Amino acid sequence: MPQLSNGLTAMEEDFIHIPESASYPTGSLDFLVKLQKDEEKRQKAMRASSLVNGEDLSRLKLNIIIVGAGLGGLAAAIALSRRGHKVTVFEQAPELGEVGAGIQIPSNSTRLLIKWGLEPFLAGKIVKPGNIAFRRWEDGKTIGLTKLIPQFEREFDAPYYVVHRAHFHDAMYQLALQLGIEIRINSKVLDYDEDAPSITLENGGSHSADLIVASDGLKSYARTKVLGGVDQAPRRTGFAAYRATVDVEKMKAYPDTAEVCAKPNLNLWVGDMRHVMTYMIAGGKSFNMVLSHPDRSDPSTWSSQTPERILSGMRDHFKGWDPTLTKIIGMIDTTLKWPLMSGSPLLRWVSASSKLLIMGDAAHAMVPYMSQGAAMAVEDGAALAEAIHQVEDISGLPRALRVWEAVRKDRADKMQEASLINGKLWHFADGPLQQARDEAMRPEVEGREFVTSPNQWSDPTTQRWTYGYDAEWEVKKAFAGKTFSPVNGH
Ligand SMILES: Cc1cc2nc3c(=O)[nH]c(=O)nc-3n(C[C@H](O)[C@H](O)[C@H](O)COP(=O)(O)OP(=O)(O)OC[C@H]3O[C@@H](n4cnc5c(N)ncnc54)[C@H](O)[C@@H]3O)c2cc1C
Repeated sequence: MPQLSNGLTAMEEDFIHIPESASYPTGSLDFLVKLQKDEEKRQKAMRASSLVNGEDLSRLKLNIIIVGAGLGGLAAAIALSRRGHKVTVFEQAPELGEVGAGIQIPSNSTRLLIKWGLEPFLAGKIVKPGNIAFRRWEDGKTIGLTKLIPQFEREFDAPYYVVHRAHFHDAMYQLALQLGIEIRINSKVLDYDEDAPSITLENGGSHSADLIVASDGLKSYARTKVLGGVDQAPRRTGFAAYRATVDVEKMKAYPDTAEVCAKPNLNLWVGDMRHVMTYMIAGGKSFNMVLSHPDRSDPSTWSSQTPERILSGMRDHFKGWDPTLTKIIGMIDTTLKWPLMSGSPLLRWVSASSKLLIMGDAAHAMVPYMSQGAAMAVEDGAALAEAIHQVEDISGLPRALRVWEAVRKDRADKMQEASLINGKLWHFADGPLQQARDEAMRPEVEGREFVTSPNQWSDPTTQRWTYGYDAEWEVKKAFAGKTFSPVNGH
């Protein structure tokens, strides 16, 4: 039989190729993926026992600059450093930290963070909520219910955490230091040369590297560079969020508010154009609240409003809501008002030179309604380290970045959309749509079987895609594919 250039015989070429994995949503191949992952773990353990350094070091070792020491920048720094790259992080702020109080760390993110060794740094700080309850705006009645414990740990092999942002950020910082990552504060990047590649700092210094990873947030300057000079900035959504915390001790003074904080659950009150997401942080000492509401005014005018005016505006928005909720809102002493922005899918995340890329909010800012913004940045970092790990030398870097970009854009662009859709599902005014939604969520409240739900945390298909996603595995799968089409025409 004559051999063809692709190694197949003429006869074999007549037959259709049966794919190794499915690109449509299905659980039918899960058993195979589990076997493959178990085998990979076994081989890794064997390799680790014969190595001094048990880490899976990459063959290609790069000198990498990361711009931005937010949660995204630190996650990428940790993921890349663990693979043996030399990482330096440049942060413009004079001090490291985070704005706002609480953050949810969903299972698709904790799976990676635990693997990286973050847990000891979070000891005593995290809260593990038992469930997420959707509550009716008017009376707090439970209208939807997602069970996190034990379901999420069992189904997705990783816990669901809520934590104070400062504690999360500090844990990442401590781990980064332990890994030997250099973090330079007071180092604002003024310009990028994406061909060198290099950065120029405000203080006049210039630094070059093999690769520059810009995790410089929503107002990213690097995004313009990657997009060839024309920015596509995130846009306002017409919604804003008040962010606040209440001391749990205060809530214990009344039976109804004490009941809300008796168990570490997430509670989400939903109503006409508004919702209030709550959960406990700081090891259970503080009650975190995000109050989303319509606001089309110019955010630059908000700084001139007095704290009293902002507080009273917040109370007005939720007047007439569940008396337990409004009692808790009444306990808020100070609040921050935050515009909710969303990006839309970008043409590319990697520069034409393949030496500068954007990630995190810079690449995929999203409304916080799926609680996945930072989780996407953690996945970006893990996927980037895995993509570089797949190539042997510097000549393979452009391909590694193309695969990374395609895999991550597909995931994050869809999460951006899922986040906006939550705003649609949650914000119905009382009426036929709200009634149909609540009726469709009833089985999960009553503990009956269901195959779909308007609650995206519970809906089996969305849940599986959101929390069962393994960022490193997806990159490996993309590399194993026979062909690969770049998304951005490099
Ligand atoms: C109300 C609200 C609730 C949220 N809740 C959740 C949640 O529960 N779960 C979740 O996963 N996500 C949540 N998010 C989203 C999450 O907070 C963000 O997606 C995440 O923090 C983005 O991290 P980042 O590192 O990409 O950007 P940033 O945190 O913005 O960090 C960017 C960093 O880059 C630095 N920088 C910028 N420009 C320069 C420069 N030129 N030179 C040097 N440094 C520079 C900045 O100072 C900053 O430190 C929420 C967001 C909001 C608004």
